[in-house]
Amino acid sequence: MANMCPNKTPVAEQDPKIRARNFKEVTLGYTAEEAINEAQRCLNCKTKPCIEGCPVKVRIPEFIAKVAEGEFEEAYDIITTTNGLPAVCGRVCPQESQCEERCVRGIKNEPVAIGRLERFCADYMLNKGNREINPTKSNGHKVAVVGSGPAGLSCAGDLAKLGYEVTIFEAFHTAGGVLMYGIPEFRLPKAIVQHEIENLKKLGVKIMTNMVIGKVLSVDELLDDGFEAIFVGSGAGLPRFMGIKGEGLIGVYSANEYLTRINLMKAYLDDYDTPINKSKVVAVVGGGNVAMDAARSAMRLGAEKVYVVYRRSLDEMPARKEEVHHAMEEGIEFLVLTNPLKVIGDQNSKVIGLECTKMELGEPDNTGRRSPKAISGSNHVLDVDSVIMSIGTSPNPLIKSTTTGLETNRRGCLIVNQEMKTTKSGVYAGGDAVTGAATVILAMGAGKTAANSIDEYIRNK
Ligand code: FAD
Ligand code: SF4
Ligand code: SF4
Repeated sequence: MANMCPNKTPVAEQDPKIRARNFKEVTLGYTAEEAINEAQRCLNCKTKPCIEGCPVKVRIPEFIAKVAEGEFEEAYDIITTTNGLPAVCGRVCPQESQCEERCVRGIKNEPVAIGRLERFCADYMLNKGNREINPTKSNGHKVAVVGSGPAGLSCAGDLAKLGYEVTIFEAFHTAGGVLMYGIPEFRLPKAIVQHEIENLKKLGVKIMTNMVIGKVLSVDELLDDGFEAIFVGSGAGLPRFMGIKGEGLIGVYSANEYLTRINLMKAYLDDYDTPINKSKVVAVVGGGNVAMDAARSAMRLGAEKVYVVYRRSLDEMPARKEEVHHAMEEGIEFLVLTNPLKVIGDQNSKVIGLECTKMELGEPDNTGRRSPKAISGSNHVLDVDSVIMSIGTSPNPLIKSTTTGLETNRRGCLIVNQEMKTTKSGVYAGGDAVTGAATVILAMGAGKTAANSIDEYIRNK
């Protein structure tokens, strides 16, 4: 008998006042009892629309049925036939616009909490202890993967399971991509990401860190070196700036740099002396997930006041609703319909203010969103000592500029066909390097597609 409760089973969270000052995980996850209760809300629909909403087609009703029966290990096994990183996806997937958006229960009430259930299964297995992982016997073929974000990890994992000898080349000193350097600890504990990476190593994947492809070695050299195919999953880590006056002042960061200092270089831990502004009043410019992460991190580093400055209204804000809600609960102030004009500095070139104008929404532009227009005479100055620019990123041009025959579009994204094949023979690509900044699960889906295509390419060579 299904549980017809209209709302999702609530999940425990740290108190907003306490969590706004620590980096521990905000959402605590379901207990076994809560998970079973929530799983019983699933109607096991014949048409399974939820699966269509998932980019890697997790067999949702099947795994949820197992959770409802208390068969958590079986549920985990079903998820991992198509999703290699369930602990990550259960936490950070934008479920409200993917699997949960299509859930039949969501038509009149709240959808089934698919993400929370996926996270529960992954955490259950993590707590249960390691399972034995046996590498597949080598088929003698070598493949290189550039970048160890979700795209690279998922491509490497699938190829290793097919018997390929896979080496990941990662520019940073730690593998994981944005999962390690971007998304903060309070949303995605780093131990979870590292556990997934250890599992990949047990499959036989080699990871070489501090290897900037395009500087230490080029893609062409990797091909000459015996790698029969290459997957480029180098992400979109090049920050954009507004091009306004004062962006070079001390105290202006890109969100990527700010978050990298905090997450990867552990600026939030007292026993690390990573340089970062311990700011009192911070303005974060932008309205995406990255802006929410930067604002909430600034609060946790001890800021007295944190503003999110966004030029459209809350309705247009691209960040996940849950993240906006969490940020508001933690005391972040949202200055919507507000656009920065100039960063103001003192005689020591340190930030002391951000001049802004108020905006109003006009007619929809070609993206369908109403374009913001400045309201004349509404200029005002926010007294801030740090400004974090979070208005988007694009792929770094290094790999394209050091590889022969690799084409990009005008946004600098690598051009691929449906099989994730680039314009250069033997070279495949996926994730943010191809789409521009997107999502973890889309990057993983691209990595999977590329692994299949690489397998076919090498077998037919
Ligand atoms: P990345 O994760 O960027 O990984 C690319 C890797 O390649 C990096 O490790 C990089 O160091 C390495 N690399 C780059 N150039 C080279 C080179 N020349 N040689 C060797 N290595 C190289 N998505 C969600 O779904 N949910 C969220 O909640 C969410 N929050 C986010 C928060 C932040 C702060 C950010 C920045 C992004 C967020 N995203 C979120 C987006 C998501 O993380 C990305 O879409 C995803 O990580 C893309 O995966 P990827 O593997 O393509 O690239
Ligand atoms: Fe939903 Fe993401 Fe899991 Fe797919 S991987 S079912 S989109 S939470
Ligand atoms: Fe269950 Fe919702 Fe999927 Fe139906 S659409 S099977 S209720 S998760």
